[in-house]
Amino acid sequence: MRKINEIVVHCTATQPDFMPGASTAGRVGEVKRWHVQINKWSDTGYHYLVDRDGTVAEGRPLERIGAHVARHNTGTIGIALFGGHGSAETDAFADHFTPEQDAALRTLIADLEARFGDLKISGHNEYAAKACPGFQVARWLGHGPAAKPAPEDQDEATAATIYRWRLAEIRDLAMRALAGE
Ligand SMILES: [Zn+2]
Repeated sequence: MRKINEIVVHCTATQPDFMPGASTAGRVGEVKRWHVQINKWSDTGYHYLVDRDGTVAEGRPLERIGAHVARHNTGTIGIALFGGHGSAETDAFADHFTPEQDAALRTLIADLEARFGDLKISGHNEYAAKACPGFQVARWLGHGPAAKPAPEDQDEATAATIYRWRLAEIRDLAMRALAGE
């Protein structure tokens, strides 16, 4: 496995109703077609794609270097959210993406950090003059789940995501205390 130290978040810049009626696999296949047939890449540029309903699909195998951000593909994992058409980099996550995508992206990040250790989490717009992913990743990360569901509305998956998140916060505080900050 190659060394991983960062996740770069992207969007597909597609409309919210991109390929209505298609499955996640169908939408992922279309992105692959763009990247392989049009860009002439060997595979989908991203390692993961997150559909509007929160379904996470694999793109390029994780062990292979991606093609998603110029000069920063080495050591990074590329994750693309479906949506984001017409977004600006100063927009909020919820302006262009769903609560399901919010929860799924946080869970995916937590899973990848459990596997690879603490990772830098950035957005494509930090490395290029682009809106992508259509929000400021650092600001979104600091905010907690965008949905903020009432307790009675939380399903177990959402509750588990929030719980994991709190654990990560506690861990960060403990690390800072240990470091004397
Ligand atoms: Zn991008």
